[in-house]
Amino acid sequence: MIEYFILFVLGLAVGSFLSVVVYRETSDDSEDTVSKFSAWLPAWVTGRSRCDNCHKQLAWHDNIPLLSYLALLGRCRYCNKKITVRYPLVELFTALEFVWLYWLIQQFAFFQQLEGTYSLIVLGFWLFIFSLSFALAVVDFQKGILPDSLILTGIVVAVLRLAATGRWEFLLTGLALFAFFLFLYLVTQGKGIGFGDVKLAFFIGVVLGWWQWVLVAMFIAFLTGAIAGVILIVLGKKTLKSALPFGPFLLGGMLIAKIAGEYLWQLYISRL
Ligand SMILES: [Zn+2]
Repeated sequence: MIEYFILFVLGLAVGSFLSVVVYRETSDDSEDTVSKFSAWLPAWVTGRSRCDNCHKQLAWHDNIPLLSYLALLGRCRYCNKKITVRYPLVELFTALEFVWLYWLIQQFAFFQQLEGTYSLIVLGFWLFIFSLSFALAVVDFQKGILPDSLILTGIVVAVLRLAATGRWEFLLTGLALFAFFLFLYLVTQGKGIGFGDVKLAFFIGVVLGWWQWVLVAMFIAFLTGAIAGVILIVLGKKTLKSALPFGPFLLGGMLIAKIAGEYLWQLYISRL
């Protein structure tokens, strides 16, 4: 049981860090973001640093994930303005996700399919991939951009894993998906798909590796993306021309394919 508690606390800390990453990537005010050097340090070390409203320096004890928000009753200590609920939500979501992933590994051995034996490094790798994907999806959803810094970090870690496991053929899957999205990008002249999605496709291909899982991921991404697009057009929130960011659907498809790819492949897609 203790390992679930450790993962929950670790998830809170990582979630706090993800908040800072997302904030840094989506904030228009560069003065307001954490300094460049501290930007990659975890948020429970550097903190959110300042209140979004009154810009007063926050103490370390006002930056404890989840607990500080509860202790302050969701308001800034200095200006009494409401703190956005996004911070504790991202922290809680990440913590639950960490516990859930660990539970999945224990129960179903999903993550052993590729790597052979379960190890802390494998767990760490997938926690990293899920966390990064979550940050990427939120930034793309809010801003319509997929920052190079995040995608590149993901690609480096994904390739390091290939170096460790010797599965260099996954690079080919990445290149194939990259080529397919580059083709879509050129055909739609960048209107349907941004170049960020093309780079993201390489990342997804390298992470998933098996072409069956890539097909599952793409099937889910295009299907859910199309459904969301139709719903938004019907509701009058979007027109055919205004693009819906595709990154969150691609990343969602990737994560679902990772968790349930084998199952979905055998149940549905191989019978189409
Ligand atoms: Zn304040």
